[in-house]
Amino acid sequence: MTEQVDVLIVGSGPAGSTYARTIGDAVPTARILMVEVGPRIPGTRGEHTLNMSEEARVAAQLLTQGPEAGVERAKALADIGDGIDPSLEFRQTILPGLFFLDPRPKLEDGEVGLSAASMASGVGGMGIHWGTSSPRPHQSERIPFIPADELDAALDHAEQLLRVTKWDGPGTGLSAKIRLQMAEEFDGPGLTPAGFMPSSLHWENGRPQFSGTGVILGDLESKVSGFELRAETLARRVIVEDGVAVGAVLEDRRTGESYEVRAEHVVVCADGLRTPQVLFASGVRPTALGHYLNEHFQVGAFGYLDDEFDPARFEDEPEHLGYVLVPFSDARPMQGGITAIGNSPYSISLGDPALASKLMACPWYGAKDIQYRDRVEFSETETDFYGMPKMTIHYSRTDTDLVTIQQLKENAARSAARIGTLAEEPALAAGGSSIHYQGTVRMGATNDGLSVCDQYLKVWDVENLYVGGNGVIPTSTASNPTLTTVALAWRAATELATHLPSECSRRLW
Ligand SMILES: Cc1cc2nc3c(=O)[nH]c(=O)nc-3n(C[C@H](O)[C@H](O)[C@H](O)COP(=O)(O)OP(=O)(O)OC[C@H]3O[C@@H](n4cnc5c(N)ncnc54)[C@H](O)[C@@H]3O)c2cc1C
Repeated sequence: MTEQVDVLIVGSGPAGSTYARTIGDAVPTARILMVEVGPRIPGTRGEHTLNMSEEARVAAQLLTQGPEAGVERAKALADIGDGIDPSLEFRQTILPGLFFLDPRPKLEDGEVGLSAASMASGVGGMGIHWGTSSPRPHQSERIPFIPADELDAALDHAEQLLRVTKWDGPGTGLSAKIRLQMAEEFDGPGLTPAGFMPSSLHWENGRPQFSGTGVILGDLESKVSGFELRAETLARRVIVEDGVAVGAVLEDRRTGESYEVRAEHVVVCADGLRTPQVLFASGVRPTALGHYLNEHFQVGAFGYLDDEFDPARFEDEPEHLGYVLVPFSDARPMQGGITAIGNSPYSISLGDPALASKLMACPWYGAKDIQYRDRVEFSETETDFYGMPKMTIHYSRTDTDLVTIQQLKENAARSAARIGTLAEEPALAAGGSSIHYQGTVRMGATNDGLSVCDQYLKVWDVENLYVGGNGVIPTSTASNPTLTTVALAWRAATELATHLPSECSRRLW
């Protein structure tokens, strides 16, 4: 007998988990099947790898690397394995837990590609590896066709789902001193003032607990008996009949067996690159699919704090990450982060171990000049490791982008110079390093061919088919996107749930 569900969700990252939790909360009798191509990770489902012991973290990272499962990655910026490009721009790519799409892409005229484009395949997706920085979008980063109060309410919900901690006010100790330096350097009329980076974490017994997708799902299994998370299950294609999504063809990765599941609603949250891949494989190919690919530029600057800012001289609030944020503004379309990371939970090392406690990082993100021609292209004939349409990325930089990159480098250097000395000149990270691929299934106000889905993430011209993930974000952003992605998925799932009968289980299949 063919399996029947109310909602089939493809992908178990933050976006898919938000759909599952929100629909389950709204309609506890719903039958919700969430499929994930990667494996389960031992331990609590959806646990963030930063909460694990070193041994468990490395084991989890090795499991989620898809075709590169088991390949050891660099543990530190100074510790580069054989075969990995040793340049600083590549060292800034965050490798553990991920696998590359194609680190040596063939480039067409005028393209720069995204050589560091990466993905994770495992329960929780990238949402068990992420850095948890959760800034709100500002000014033109916000989606203009969602009423401001509705977007704010969705962001409020997203902060609850992700257990975001915010640090308002001037801060204390070293954090306050660094924030003041950045405010003096970067605040001005029309500019969003410097503050602290909100983070998806909370504190337990004096230790930060980073939010993985387990935090989003909560105790869904015990409240919604019809919820199932099925790992090692590939969604090969969505079945669309007469313009209506009615289910999907799934493949058990352990046996290779293919089977059909029928669903009232299908939601694809398979990351910024693979969500359009699933749609393409399903024959859902609106003009904008895969286009307007937007990965913001990332410039990293590492160095050492001056004696005046030596963490040893300060007593900061113990429950403070001290990550100073220079937010995005239209007049300066970039976001700066400045942090003393030597003693922070983000353990990386660079150069002289004796200076480790004075290590500082100043990562800056710059907004991309979005172009139709920047895209992920899918092959009709060739396939990837999973047997899905092979992806090729086309990515270029406009003159505006070149100016942005230059300003990013200058601002990164300015922020570092306020508090210390750079170890190396600020460098542009290899394309794809931000792991924030947006725009590929972008939302739009109207069905005018420039977007893939509406403001509730329903795919235009296909009934009962929804998408989610960073790919839906249509604006040119510098801020880290996951909070916005969760907000948009919460809003879409809330709308989707209104189409389900309140007592799903009473229906006869
Ligand atoms: C090291 C690191 C640091 C990061 N730091 C930050 C940060 O500080 N702030 C921030 O905002 N963002 C950060 N990110 C990005 C953040 O993790 C992503 O924005 C977020 O995980 C996207 O959620 P998602 O659900 O759309 O996709 P994902 O988390 O990638 O999940 C998608 C899932 O879909 C699965 N899938 C794909 N295709 C199929 C298929 N055909 N069938 C079944 N399953 C499929 C994948 O295996 C994957 O598990 C970081 C990411 C990494 C890796």
